[in-house]
Amino acid sequence: MTSIIPAPDLLEDATAKLTCYPAKPKDLRQIALPLARVPNWQQKAIEKFAELLRKYKSLQVYMDICARCGACADKCQFFLGTGDPNNMPVARAELMRSVYRRYFTPEGRMFGAAVDAYDFDEAMLQKWYTYFYQCSECRRCSVFCPYGVDTAEITMAAREIMASIGVATKYVTEVVAKVYQLGNNLGIPPPAWIDNCQFLEEELKAQTGKDIRLPVDEQGAQVLLVAPSADNFANTNTMMAYGILFHALGVSWTTSTYCNEGGNFGLFLDFQNLKKVNQRIVDAARQLKVKQIIWGECGHAWRAGILTDTLNGPLDFLEVPHPVHICQYTAAMLKRGAFKLDKTANDDVRVTYHDPCNPARAGQLLEEPREILRASCNHFVEMRPDTIRERTYCCGAGGGLLTDEIMPIRMAGGKPRAEACRATGANVMATPCAICKAQLPEVMKHWKVDCEISGVHDLLVKAMVL
Ligand code: SF4
Ligand code: SF4
Repeated sequence: MTSIIPAPDLLEDATAKLTCYPAKPKDLRQIALPLARVPNWQQKAIEKFAELLRKYKSLQVYMDICARCGACADKCQFFLGTGDPNNMPVARAELMRSVYRRYFTPEGRMFGAAVDAYDFDEAMLQKWYTYFYQCSECRRCSVFCPYGVDTAEITMAAREIMASIGVATKYVTEVVAKVYQLGNNLGIPPPAWIDNCQFLEEELKAQTGKDIRLPVDEQGAQVLLVAPSADNFANTNTMMAYGILFHALGVSWTTSTYCNEGGNFGLFLDFQNLKKVNQRIVDAARQLKVKQIIWGECGHAWRAGILTDTLNGPLDFLEVPHPVHICQYTAAMLKRGAFKLDKTANDDVRVTYHDPCNPARAGQLLEEPREILRASCNHFVEMRPDTIRERTYCCGAGGGLLTDEIMPIRMAGGKPRAEACRATGANVMATPCAICKAQLPEVMKHWKVDCEISGVHDLLVKAMVL
């Protein structure tokens, strides 16, 4: 097995010097956050911290309960990849706990640094900005914590506090602003979305000889599909696969130009934007009078999606009144024998499966993608048991880290995933996540692993007998 000790070149580069670019006022305005650091920012931040402690009892518990046992220390891909001790989950969380002690515990107020309690000053804010944006909110560390501390939730709280005082990253805020302006993370305007769908319909005709539709804004369809917008633009095989799937099933479906995005970068920023972005999906379903919402191949979209009832009210206006992931839907159809597959169509493929963090650790989606791959491919191989299912490694770019200015961090964080893949000898790694599909080809290239990245449904429809 290849070592996951970080390469020296990355050790040198992947340090605290690398931070995400700061947010631009035009995007902050669009998403109702302060346009610049607010006056009295320390006081405001501590007030926000107090508010979150009142609101989320789990956060209070995570601040108090850590025994510093170190069981999480070597479980984070960003620590494994960079060797930077601040990327140990316990050390990352300690940045917040030290501020908690200083302002919210009697001993911290009295004894300060003597009990590891520190002011929320400029230097501390810079550490928060660096290291809470070198955490992909993947929750891997929480699987190994004997007390159940969820460092991802700590990261979310820290980002929420920073956002409230006008400190956020360009990438995350830009994406959320694009959703409000144009309905999707990539900023694809409605006419371009429609054009892309028409182009892909022509491509489907050329490939299959059949009239397979990618419908847009169709009132009264059975299904509203909220796929990642990247599927319309970059992962077009996956987009075409959705079309083939619904065509084979004879199910009417549509995408929406008001909300053609399952991804929710509000999850990586603050609660108000998480809720507002998700609301667009519900509004689109109501406008189009569909009977069911299905989330496409996107990891964090599903993490936000399963919260829809809680965040945005009951989905009881739908015939299927709960969120459904496309892999759940397809696996259920497979069990019913709804389509015929010829696995030999994938005999050129030795495929492994990458569990995206959010479906695996926050979305209860472990079996269905595997069922689809086993039904579609003769040569399916799992990665090492300590690197799959709920123990999966992050691709290295989740949580709002898919941005080029921190490329060395991304490549370092992706190394454990790349090495686990290399050990299988697979030539294709399937994954139902647009961020993983954007990040993993770079990771494989960087670590010289000869493996292509594919969607799960891409392989399904390759085996489908139409
Ligand atoms: S495993 Fe849990 S208790 Fe142990 S150091 Fe990490 S967060 Fe703290
Ligand atoms: S949530 Fe993931 S990225 Fe963040 S500290 Fe834990 S293992 Fe690392």
